[in-house]
Amino acid sequence: MLDAYASKPPLPRQYAENLLVMEKGRGCRISDRSGREYLDMGAGIAVNSLGYGRLDLAEIAAKQMRKLIHVSNLFTTGPALELAEKIIAAGPPRGSTSKFEAVHFGNSGSEANETALKYARLYASDKRGDGHHGFLAFSGGFHGRTMGALSLTANTQYRLPFNPLIPGALILPLNDEEALRNTLDESFAAVIIEPIQGEGGLHKPNEAFVRTLNALCRQYDVLLITDEIQSGLGRCGELYASSLVGLEPDIITLAKPLAAGLPLSAVLIPSKINQLLKPGLHATTFGGGPLTTAVASATWDLLNDPVFMEEVNRKGAFLESLLNEGLKSLGIPGEVRGIGMLRGLHLVDEKYDSSWCNKVLKKTLEAGLIILKSGLDVLRLAPPLVISYDELTEGVHILFDTIKEAI
Ligand code: PMP
Repeated sequence: MLDAYASKPPLPRQYAENLLVMEKGRGCRISDRSGREYLDMGAGIAVNSLGYGRLDLAEIAAKQMRKLIHVSNLFTTGPALELAEKIIAAGPPRGSTSKFEAVHFGNSGSEANETALKYARLYASDKRGDGHHGFLAFSGGFHGRTMGALSLTANTQYRLPFNPLIPGALILPLNDEEALRNTLDESFAAVIIEPIQGEGGLHKPNEAFVRTLNALCRQYDVLLITDEIQSGLGRCGELYASSLVGLEPDIITLAKPLAAGLPLSAVLIPSKINQLLKPGLHATTFGGGPLTTAVASATWDLLNDPVFMEEVNRKGAFLESLLNEGLKSLGIPGEVRGIGMLRGLHLVDEKYDSSWCNKVLKKTLEAGLIILKSGLDVLRLAPPLVISYDELTEGVHILFDTIKEAI
């Protein structure tokens, strides 16, 4: 039998020394090359919202590959147009006055944020001239690993080894209204914020902070970018997570579940930015190709369905109650964080630190369950949105059995 782990793989050492080699998936379970099965409550880090082994999507992909796999960005294709039209037709986040006119497709979350930042600089220099290029982000935020997105990613471990990053990038404490008021002015091109922080501990901006942020961005004509790469597209029980916290974005970035596991991102832009764009100003070779957009168009219909979304909300509430029950049974002070199907468990004691969380992740994996970490000391669950109630119960039971052994 093949060893499930690849030892000394010819992959860069930023990844684990021993990587589990995954082979196939069906529903919410994936198996490694030795045949061992895992219940996946990480969904490829909030990507595989529709689960694995989707024959409906595989059929669309295969058909599109046979028909036309790629064209240069001197052309477009039916699937790209169809998807962009669906995204625009869906309208802005519920309750917001945002208005989107066009969608720029890319290949990854980082690329989407890079694009959003470039658009914001273009807008600020057009409206206010040179020197209005600042970017503001918040503690706990994660926006990607490319130089621009990394400049606004709070975690210093990710950021500092690569200094100097882009000039004018500033990170303020999340929910510090006073710092925000004292800092934000017309010298900034954009503010980027996650409606709920996927990587940074599942914190979210509070109501008063959001109100001030919306108002200051309007006052100084600073573009507000909501990074919904992890929290959007139904993960939190809404098409856009901005609506759950009251953010009124000028730009939204999307990626992870957009093409159900194929690499695709989207930047939603308003007319005032679209008007400034000229041919050749910004582009990508692969972004928005016919294969990814054909799959994404079908994925969009499945995710943006009110009946489906209602069920996601029911499952999210069920998951929350399972986690609260589990926490109670531990008898340790703690907190269940998150919204919908993006949830975290934080145990309040120094003992339950980063290395303790890593131990729990390793043990749950041994017990046949994949979960994630968020921030230093939060256990994160982001299961496929199609997971069953029984699977949620099974996963949370494995999690708490593991935690009980580890405390
Ligand atoms: N923004 C957020 C909120 C994310 O969670 C991530 C990925 N974890 C990114 C941006 C970067 O996306 P990618 O890895 O596709 O570049």
